Amino acid sequence: MSLSTKFAAPERFGRRFGRAYAVHVLGCKVSQIEADGIARTLESEGFEPARPGEAAEVVVLHACTVTARADRDALRLARRLRRENPAALLAVTGCLAERDPDGLSLRPEIDVVAGHGSRLALPRLLEDAAAGLLPGKVAERTASPAEVLASPLAAGGTGRSRTFLKIQDGCGRRCSFCIVPSLRGAERSAPASEVEDAIRALGEDGVPEVVLCGVHLAAFGHDHGESLVGLLRRLEDRPPACRLRLSSLEPMEAGEALVDLVASSRVVAPHLHLPLQSGSDAVLRRMRRGMTRARFRDLLLRAARANPRLHLATDVIAGFPGETDAEFAETEALLAELPLASLHVFPFSPRSGTAAAAQPAGASVPASLRTRRAARLRARAATLLRRFAAAHDGRAADVVALRGDVGLTETYVEVALPPSGPPPASRFAALLALRPDGGLDARPAVPFSC
Ligand code: SF4
Repeated sequence: MSLSTKFAAPERFGRRFGRAYAVHVLGCKVSQIEADGIARTLESEGFEPARPGEAAEVVVLHACTVTARADRDALRLARRLRRENPAALLAVTGCLAERDPDGLSLRPEIDVVAGHGSRLALPRLLEDAAAGLLPGKVAERTASPAEVLASPLAAGGTGRSRTFLKIQDGCGRRCSFCIVPSLRGAERSAPASEVEDAIRALGEDGVPEVVLCGVHLAAFGHDHGESLVGLLRRLEDRPPACRLRLSSLEPMEAGEALVDLVASSRVVAPHLHLPLQSGSDAVLRRMRRGMTRARFRDLLLRAARANPRLHLATDVIAGFPGETDAEFAETEALLAELPLASLHVFPFSPRSGTAAAAQPAGASVPASLRTRRAARLRARAATLLRRFAAAHDGRAADVVALRGDVGLTETYVEVALPPSGPPPASRFAALLALRPDGGLDARPAVPFSC
């Protein structure tokens, strides 16, 4: 069925008729923010969110492609969305559309493929597709890369307890396992003054927590002579009405100054997520991380000395090509030494188009061994989280109510709120009590005041 017959007449489309749309997203925080931006753009063109149970007429899948598994998940979801919305126009956007437009265009369930930077053009693209005006399924690449800073409210709207703000995009590094730089292009950041204004506006709008996000957040501002430390210092000098949280920061750029600032900050939540990936220098070299075991160790111990209550989190890849038992043991030994609160574990997954995927077959670690190593690390992760939660027993905390019965502390621990507790998106001081099951109860004390 050609696209043009899908809608009787082009003028029945978009702003004139409030067409029902649905946006689905897979992937990282940046991807989620972008999907939010797509939804707002469609609404600004007269589309309306499909009501529950109502078949959408336009479906957008904003999809990730960071691993082969991410691809499989996206294609499975696309098939499901087609089944659930048989008459809809189905568009795929995001990193997957950027990496494999031609492959996606061969799939019968997909009508439109639009890569990064297509948000603003999407309504028109969909209209043209419906009218059969698109020469093919793949939208022409736009000159503009994915934009960086969507307007504050577009990043999540008010009333949300946590709002994610994308302030940076792109990456200039070439870690050998990572496809992201080839999809998102060079590093670019929003002007720090615009970010500062956006944060203040969200705080004044009642949002208690703003999460700063980017593809390579620690490189914020490097493209125009600014820095994340510089931005945070301005906010430290005149605190906004909300607390800030930083999403993951590559340790290669997150130097001592940033760690010291976060450790002593009144504005930034005491939570540092610094991906390690491996505790073996030989593996780090093969990953082209530009980081060493010793430097990472020093950075983390410096942070813990500066603020022992910091939530220190990291990521590790298990079973990177060529990883020997001894190299894996180095990783385990380093993790055992560091005062970590949480650990995210990723069994190595070759991503075509990366240097690591081009390693000779003999170098790859058998899948069963990757799985076993990942399982060992995940067991460690569970112990770390339990230990970190237990350390909060009897402590006061700065809690944001996420939803009726759940809150989030400044140290990034979820706590249980009493029935008829504070309303969602409120922020308050609370006393924490450890439950026998290892969870934490929060007894609200007083509303939090900046
Ligand atoms: S720093 Fe490395 S892992 Fe992070 S986005 Fe850039 S290339 Fe990928």
